[in-house]
Amino acid sequence: MAAPIPREWTGLQQFPAATQTKLHELLGKLKEENVSTLTILVMGKGGVGKSSTVNSIVGERVATVSAFQSEGLRPTMCSRTRVGFTLNIIDTPGLIEGGYINEQAVEIIKRFLLGKTIDVLLYVDRLDAYRMDTLDEQVIKAITNSFGKDIWRRALVVLTHAQLSPPDGIDYNEFFTKRSEALLRYIRSGVGINKREYGDFRLPIALVENSGRCKTNEHGEKVCLFHAVFDLIFICARILMVDR
Ligand code: GDP
Ligand code: MG
Repeated sequence: MAAPIPREWTGLQQFPAATQTKLHELLGKLKEENVSTLTILVMGKGGVGKSSTVNSIVGERVATVSAFQSEGLRPTMCSRTRVGFTLNIIDTPGLIEGGYINEQAVEIIKRFLLGKTIDVLLYVDRLDAYRMDTLDEQVIKAITNSFGKDIWRRALVVLTHAQLSPPDGIDYNEFFTKRSEALLRYIRSGVGINKREYGDFRLPIALVENSGRCKTNEHGEKVCLFHAVFDLIFICARILMVDR
């Protein structure tokens, strides 16, 4: 079956003019390098902001966001094009149910991805989480077992709820550093990345705020969302280029 013709990426128009210009430059550069598609797979626990992040990137409500667990088991793929470039982004349901990995959900995702090339894995978690637990480990291991360790070479860690006031008067940067170090330690140990391999598994981190609580500039534009999303696309493009 032929893939449907993707729709125009009109959601980009809500980005500030300067961001749109930068994005067009980036898309132009990718085209020069004969890169015409970017396929992003979004995974993580339930409720961490995967679907919201998909909507922030596409700039439209394409994925269902819910404060409560109400997702089905099916992944969904959204495709958009701009100046001859196609973005595919695959949202997936949370893999945990009743404290364990839902193997059926994992199987459905694997089947959905058959024949698709994943350029970038977005591993999503919340910035404002204070502890890692066995659920994190289970999700990291399930991703590794399903798609192989190498998918983590092409991973970008996204921390949502980026606009937060850290507890106990801790400075934001200190909080971010501690949180990201703890998460990276967990990912490396869950995936089985040893010190010698750190250079191959860089695991860059991007901050995203999906809510309206984002700071706005004098034109009323949500600055942290727009910049974060632009960074996100930019880092994804870099991962894609390094991988070729
Ligand atoms: P998913 O289950 O991982 O797809 O998570 P959703 O995208 O459905 O989000 C779960 C809940 O968190 C929803 O109520 C969202 O509105 C909220 N949410 C997601 N991202 C953010 C964020 O960056 N900041 C804030 N404040 N809320 C968010
Ligand atoms: Mg979701």
